[in-house]
Amino acid sequence: MSRLHKFAHVLVIVVVSAVATFAQTSTRDYRRAHEHQILSEFTRLLAIPNVASDRENIRRNALFILEMMQRRGLNPQLLEAKTKDVPPAVFGEWKAPGASHAIVIYAHYDGQPVDPKQWTASPPFQPTWRSAAFESGGKIIALPDNGEINPEWRLYARAASDDKAGVMAILTAFDALRAQGIAPSLNLKFIFEGEEEAGSPHLGEIIDLHKDLLNADAWIICDGPVHQSGRKEVVFGVRGDQNVDVTIYGAKRPLHSGHYGNWAPNPAMLLARLLASMKDDTGRVTIAGWYDGVEPLGDAERHAIAEAPAYDDELRSQLGLARTEGNGKSLLELINQPSLNINGISSGDVGALARNVIPTTATAVLDLRLVKGNDHQRQVLRLIDHIRKRGFFVIDHDATDAERKQHALIAKVIARSGGYNAERTRMDLPISIALIAAVQSTSKDPIVKLPTSGGSLPLSIITDHLRTVTMTVPIANYDNNQHAENENLRLQNLWDGIETLAAVMTIKPKF
Ligand SMILES: [Zn+2]
Repeated sequence: MSRLHKFAHVLVIVVVSAVATFAQTSTRDYRRAHEHQILSEFTRLLAIPNVASDRENIRRNALFILEMMQRRGLNPQLLEAKTKDVPPAVFGEWKAPGASHAIVIYAHYDGQPVDPKQWTASPPFQPTWRSAAFESGGKIIALPDNGEINPEWRLYARAASDDKAGVMAILTAFDALRAQGIAPSLNLKFIFEGEEEAGSPHLGEIIDLHKDLLNADAWIICDGPVHQSGRKEVVFGVRGDQNVDVTIYGAKRPLHSGHYGNWAPNPAMLLARLLASMKDDTGRVTIAGWYDGVEPLGDAERHAIAEAPAYDDELRSQLGLARTEGNGKSLLELINQPSLNINGISSGDVGALARNVIPTTATAVLDLRLVKGNDHQRQVLRLIDHIRKRGFFVIDHDATDAERKQHALIAKVIARSGGYNAERTRMDLPISIALIAAVQSTSKDPIVKLPTSGGSLPLSIITDHLRTVTMTVPIANYDNNQHAENENLRLQNLWDGIETLAAVMTIKPKF
């Protein structure tokens, strides 16, 4: 770094850190004075099992959050779907005097399914403190009755980070602002969904039934982890997703590989060849039209990617990868392109069950990640076209005897239900600019702004049912074991999240 550069760098940090607002300082003071109270409410919420299919317990979560909001005077209500026995969304409002604009702040209170046997750190619904991450030797500790709590401590429980941390950070940010006598600059609507990890199958229905309540200039989603570098993040999109099962047929019964090898076609080999034809050596998908229609990134988006901390070398070293795909392009550039992944392949047996047979079928589950401009159904048609061009007769059912006799190559292709498109909000909208400024005001390091996250969320459900835009403000630690066993939250991430959300609640977009 040149001296001039170094000076400029220092200057930027000084300027940025000087922005820490009165509200942020007071929010921190409020939190420091109420840590024990906040964590007591949080651990009670975490102790209620929250798998969406467990209808009895999921409703207990909704009622607990309803009470949390009642205590705060937010006039909450449960938003039910038309379909019976669906996890309700919990809704509350904080009105700004005279405001004509509104934002919805969203989190979800359901969590991924759990297999308690795999929770080696502590049971999933028994919130447990550790002095550090379990994997790095963190020991179980008891929270002191009063006094300081080490912010590096971690709280272990399902949904500690994904996404009850969001619920807690939002409601505590509200507490802190109200305690300071600060009113929001626009109407704030809080919604907590109870079926996100199940793919939000009734969110569209709930939105349609309560459109007036849920209309807003933007939906701000508080979910997911911050950047691996630990910096705060604002994300303007998500990838779409579509799973497809492809099954290739061999003989009707397994054959002795000695008696029939060289004669009977092997479906695993046919599948391997077919899959290999779908990508070149650099990882680029070779299916015709795969990249057609992709909406190019704008200046603000390209600039944001260039500015994001370079983390690829560190990731390669952590992951033991000597080489990555994409012809030298960065991870952040590549997640803005549609992808084609093999989730798994199955044919015959390996390991102790391996036998010398020619298997009868071979199946691959493909995972198509989509970006803005892709349509998930159209992408499946391109895949099917490619399979046809390779000489396969494509069917959507188990092959019949007549079909087996007539066609040398048969592929059963099933697009799974639940696929959806990507979503991306422009980073140069007034509300986008205001959100970036708000989150930046709470951080001395430059925040990370991403046009899209690599992961998928059905945010298109929101924009298909309402005229609004979505953006995501994650708060959890990146190493939170999201969706897996031993999920945890680093306490400092909750504290930072409260300050982030308080800033979000006071944004002032120049509409
Ligand atoms: Zn989540």
